[in-house]
Amino acid sequence: MIGEIYYSRKFLQHKPENYHPENPGRLWILMSAIRELMLDDRIIEPIPVDESFVKRIHDPAYVELVKRAVEEGRKYLDPDTYVCPGTWEAALMALGASKLAALAALRYGGLNMALVRPPGHHAGKRGKAMGAPTLGFCIFNNVAAAVLALREEDLEKIVIIDFDAHHGNGTQEIFWQDPDVIHIDIHERDIYPWTGYEREIGGGLAKGSKINIPMPHYSNDSDYIFAWDEIVVSILENVKPKVVLVSAGFDGFKGDGLTTLKLTEKFFSYAGASLRRYPVAMIFEGGYDVGLKRGFPAFVKGYEEKEAKDNGQPSYETLKIVEEVKDILSPWWSF
Ligand SMILES: [Zn+2]
Repeated sequence: MIGEIYYSRKFLQHKPENYHPENPGRLWILMSAIRELMLDDRIIEPIPVDESFVKRIHDPAYVELVKRAVEEGRKYLDPDTYVCPGTWEAALMALGASKLAALAALRYGGLNMALVRPPGHHAGKRGKAMGAPTLGFCIFNNVAAAVLALREEDLEKIVIIDFDAHHGNGTQEIFWQDPDVIHIDIHERDIYPWTGYEREIGGGLAKGSKINIPMPHYSNDSDYIFAWDEIVVSILENVKPKVVLVSAGFDGFKGDGLTTLKLTEKFFSYAGASLRRYPVAMIFEGGYDVGLKRGFPAFVKGYEEKEAKDNGQPSYETLKIVEEVKDILSPWWSF
């Protein structure tokens, strides 16, 4: 079942001065997919959060810095990440949409979506996270807003699955010490932001709650589906969460442009199908071209109508990485 879709034209007001892969056109692609899927009637205008809410996720000094940059008409926060006059409102609206999608998943079930910009998973407490050189197009951490919303509803264990091709370093940093936020992140290894390795498992009492699956370059559907089944699906079966938050990036699709991954509809549809028994809030992260045109609808249709089935062979390198991740996490999880 498809639930609510949170989208606002305010998200289009965050726009670059010159060509940039993270631009409003990305949402036009998603919206045309939504029309083709005949889901227009599910679209709801979200409500923005206020500044005090943002300061519960991020350090107040960072929030002020973003606000000032926008007010002063600055063009960039760093070489990757632009700001413009519409950025502040779009970013607050993106947090609000993510919050509402999580609450909708909890209340009504089904697949709920926050189709937002700017993206969020690279934004840490004070901006750049875990030694990353830039914010990687992100301003505030949208999935963190979804976590806070669920916390207010007294949900104890919260699961985030991040399948964007890049590691969600901001999300990992924000919840590093939090044992009740189980963050599973599958991504291409050794690319921006150069974190998300097997041994990053959380700090202190939260050890074992952060699960990283750094996939080899050029991984394909069979590699991803194998890792997904062995680790993501197993952990979901262990936790049986009331809601699954998905940081959904479609930049691992073959030819999307920013990575070497070779995923197709097959993986995205499989991922959707394997989540169908859980209420989901999908928060949009990366994906720049063909991944949005083909990966996004495959995920939605997978959740709606497909059984998860696969018989592909993963590469030897993938087998080794999956074994390593399972081995490191075996004190906390049974696979
Ligand atoms: Zn990405």
